[in-house]
Amino acid sequence: MTIHVLSDQLASQIAAGEVVERPSSVVKELVENAIDAGATAITIDVRGGGRELVQVADNGAGIAADEIETAFLRHATSKLTSADDLWAIRTLGFRGEALASIAAVSRLTVVSRAREATAGIRLVLDGGAVLARETIGAPAGTVIAVENLFYNVPARLKFLKSITTEKRLIDEFVTRYALAYPAIRFRLSHDGRVTFQTAGSGQTADVLLAAYGPDTARQLIELRPPEPAADPSTASGPAAVAVRGYVSDPALTYSARNHIQLFVNGRAIRDTRLTFAVVQAYHTLLPVGRFPLALLFIDMPPDEVDVNVHPTKIEVRFRDDGAVFGAVQRAVRAAILETAPARGLGGWPAMGQSAAGWGGFGAAADGRDLPHTQLDIPWQLRGPAPDDEGLDEAAPAAPTLPGAAETRLPLMRVIGQVGAAYIVAEGPEGLYLIDQHAAHERILYEQLLAQRRGQQVASQRLMAAATVYLSPSQAHLVEENLPLLASLGFEIEPFGPNAFRLRAVPAILGRADPAQALAAVVIDLENETAPLKSETEALVIKRVCKTAAVKAGQTLARPEMEALIAQLEACDVPHTCPHGRPTLIHLSATLLARQFGRT
Ligand code: ADP
Ligand code: MG
Repeated sequence: MTIHVLSDQLASQIAAGEVVERPSSVVKELVENAIDAGATAITIDVRGGGRELVQVADNGAGIAADEIETAFLRHATSKLTSADDLWAIRTLGFRGEALASIAAVSRLTVVSRAREATAGIRLVLDGGAVLARETIGAPAGTVIAVENLFYNVPARLKFLKSITTEKRLIDEFVTRYALAYPAIRFRLSHDGRVTFQTAGSGQTADVLLAAYGPDTARQLIELRPPEPAADPSTASGPAAVAVRGYVSDPALTYSARNHIQLFVNGRAIRDTRLTFAVVQAYHTLLPVGRFPLALLFIDMPPDEVDVNVHPTKIEVRFRDDGAVFGAVQRAVRAAILETAPARGLGGWPAMGQSAAGWGGFGAAADGRDLPHTQLDIPWQLRGPAPDDEGLDEAAPAAPTLPGAAETRLPLMRVIGQVGAAYIVAEGPEGLYLIDQHAAHERILYEQLLAQRRGQQVASQRLMAAATVYLSPSQAHLVEENLPLLASLGFEIEPFGPNAFRLRAVPAILGRADPAQALAAVVIDLENETAPLKSETEALVIKRVCKTAAVKAGQTLARPEMEALIAQLEACDVPHTCPHGRPTLIHLSATLLARQFGRT
């Protein structure tokens, strides 16, 4: 084969592949252009999952008649003139590639009228070549219709997923942008049927309702930006990163991470590290393998973030990614800790609060103004369930109403024990069933963490040192983690090949078998895959607490139960064990009255 320069058409088809991977990419680029054009209403019509037609109409600035052909040339943009501008990007587009790329692999019709122009222009392109051009009357704004996507790149067609998948991806994109731009009126239809629309009210809460339905929306917690620093000199550093948005109550979980959505300066992005920061903020509050919903709007000066990393602009690079990571984690953690509600059963309003009178967390029972508020959506509101295949809620189907706003538990009086596993107690708002093992785990976990913060974990010397024999790989793990284990109160010394002498253990282990406790920790370390030191530490701490906690099947004396309840009341996060399971079930007085037909 001789070396030759690719034809223009082939070169643009190849380039197009980077930007336009699938129908949802077309939707993304056209919607981003409409937003950049200052539109206040964007209508998206899709046929055949986007293969037959993607049409996006906006009421934005429009394109001048003498510039319309230019807009379809590669690297033609109105949003960037110099390399310096790259660090001050406030628009979603800037590479000037989308229109050229989409046109190269489809049949495209554009009708546009610049706001100040008297007439509009219509241009038809086929595989990038102009077929027709005419002046016509048109409303101000732009309509772009993309038909027969990939008709001239059959290889690409073969890679497209099912129509359902493409539809779902399009839905996801439109929803995301509607959430990020609540002041814009969005309307999306598939095959002539409107599936999603927003009012453009400017309220994110309204869009949340449209996007997720009332049941889910009610379980979202709004993040509030931290108070501005009193000392303005500290406001420049990491404080320049502001995090707004919503996160789900720990009771609402999903089987995948795709409900964690991130926006940086109004741009939807993907970032595995930040996604991890969100999940980690829920640390111990979610069951294993479950993920929260989060919508985080991260705002920062444009020169702190490089958006020009990938043609699709979906990945970005931060100048100080540690600061962004920390800001996200702190904001999310603060919100969920402040609002983690009591887990009611079946979603009855707590006693003393009529359903209609429930005013969200702002109206805390004790009148304290909590810094975070939950969406104020009346609980009776039940809309059609959102059509979401991925939706897999752990929460019961009935609406789970947050109980009293208290994170703390009320004072409870022990009544007795059932099944040698649960403590029955009475509180001011009804009956409580407490899982003795989960509750004790939570208590020990917080005690150990508190000791650790104070730098001294209470250690207990063993009367007789215990010898532990391990496999070579296990022994290696113990050796590797000796400093961590020592910091938690394990005094361990090597004792021949693959054997260790255990001289002291964390005091909270009490009477638990020390060798067994270490063995359990080692097994956890073996199964661990996360590379982070902080995670390993959390794992070991949780295992120690699990081993030390009273088990189901243990009969407890009344004073023991009372001590346990008192300690649980004192916990910061009393409602879940460190693994995210509930520690207690609340049967409110109202629920009991209803169940017995008294009301
Ligand atoms: P980019 O968005 O990176 O500038 P595009 O290829 O997406 O590149 O668009 C090229 C240019 O066409 C834009 O810079 C803008 O001036 C114009 N344009 C595209 N879509 C619209 C629209 N919906 N309304 C107004 N102008 C548009
Ligand atoms: Mg663009």
